[in-house]
Amino acid sequence: MSEKTQICETILDAIGNTPLVRLPRDFDPEVKCEVLLKIDYLNPGGSMKDRIALHMVRAAEKKGLLKPGGRIVECSSGNTGAGLCVVAAALGYDITVVIPDKMSSEKIAALRALGADVVVTPCNVDIESPMHYTKVAGRIASEIEGAWWPDQYHNRDNTDAHYYSTAPELWEQCGGKLDVFVAGAGTGGTLSGMARYFKEQNPKVKIVGVDPPGSILAHYWQHQEICDSSPYAVEGVGEEEVPGAWDPHLIDSYEVVPDGESFAMARRLAAETGIFPGGSGGMNLVAALKVARTLPADACLVTILPDYGKAYLSKVYSEDWLRDFGYLPKVGINNATVLDMMREKNKAVLFSVDSVSWAVRQAGERGVRPLPVQAGLGGKLLGVFDEDRALELLAEGKDLDGISVADCLAAAPAVLDSHAPWQDAVEALKHCEGVLVDVRGEYLPLDRRDLLQALKRLEHND
Ligand code: PMP
Repeated sequence: MSEKTQICETILDAIGNTPLVRLPRDFDPEVKCEVLLKIDYLNPGGSMKDRIALHMVRAAEKKGLLKPGGRIVECSSGNTGAGLCVVAAALGYDITVVIPDKMSSEKIAALRALGADVVVTPCNVDIESPMHYTKVAGRIASEIEGAWWPDQYHNRDNTDAHYYSTAPELWEQCGGKLDVFVAGAGTGGTLSGMARYFKEQNPKVKIVGVDPPGSILAHYWQHQEICDSSPYAVEGVGEEEVPGAWDPHLIDSYEVVPDGESFAMARRLAAETGIFPGGSGGMNLVAALKVARTLPADACLVTILPDYGKAYLSKVYSEDWLRDFGYLPKVGINNATVLDMMREKNKAVLFSVDSVSWAVRQAGERGVRPLPVQAGLGGKLLGVFDEDRALELLAEGKDLDGISVADCLAAAPAVLDSHAPWQDAVEALKHCEGVLVDVRGEYLPLDRRDLLQALKRLEHND
């Protein structure tokens, strides 16, 4: 930061100094103590991992491992990748990020937008497989001249970044009054780096680790043995091997939080407080509240929100995704209706006076098909937008602003009542690609792709 002004010389100066925000007192009436949230998703790359990216790169430069014109190659669940992209772009390095296909499409798109070469690997392979993202990153780095692999899982500078940056910053923000710190671990860098700093300041500070079920870390902490891992959906936390950056000796207790609870908590926090975390933030908060309920009123508990909810709009924040993966209750086949076959998507209605160019935007860019045309607001259904006719007009180069939808109308497909049994939708879509559903007077499209997804949600042992 330049001394005379508040202007950052580069985006790297904007890393860190994130706010510490009090959880509203009434969020959990059973909690008497102070619960504070470190909003680390407000870093430039959208997560706390910007801190380790900068620290690891600066350390590698000092050690001569990364030289001008070099390439950074890292395996990441997305956030370290994004942080490294920010640092690489600001400092002029090339970057390759290897990411498992479990991670959200938003994260992968962000890496590409930030200039990375992105390599997507399968998520369900054994850690020893050459297809595992850590092995792929190591191999790519070894094959490229001038490439450097930070290897965050076993890099001391990952842990040190939190020891030197996140922890002292948080300690100062809460005036040294900290009783419990709660956080999940992926590489373990956050938990270990912060725990080391806090315990040096005050050995009485309690450190609580958090894990998704299926990860080996909580089990290893308790039994000092490696158990079998199994899949879980929360991103960025939990492990299938013991990472070098994770120090179990600094942890006083462990909580295990099921994915569904983590997602529900993230959603509730966003909707009720405006604090918008990713799934691991929700996981941390579930564990934090459980511990906080046992603490006296004068205690202070802090947890961290590692990344931003916007990276999970297609997952944690999508009811369809939650339903498809069983995080919301299934509907029994005897009760399910046509409404249960519908998915969250864009909706639109045209009036006969609207222009064809507006209709093309609704059908083409926003993907509303079939697109209903009504006589006016709440008026009679006249038909649907005639895409074949619109294609002809477009091909002829006609001025579509000057042509009204009334001249581009096709007969409406079947219109189903949203309360009708779900089998009606299956029957209707046997004969056509898309139908309309009358939902309280609104006509919404339903097509075969919707059915392909939605039918999986039904409970057949009803
Ligand atoms: N949450 C998210 C969303 C993450 O991406 C990560 C990093 N893998 C973590 C939590 C855990 O951080 P750490 O690697 O420092 O343990």
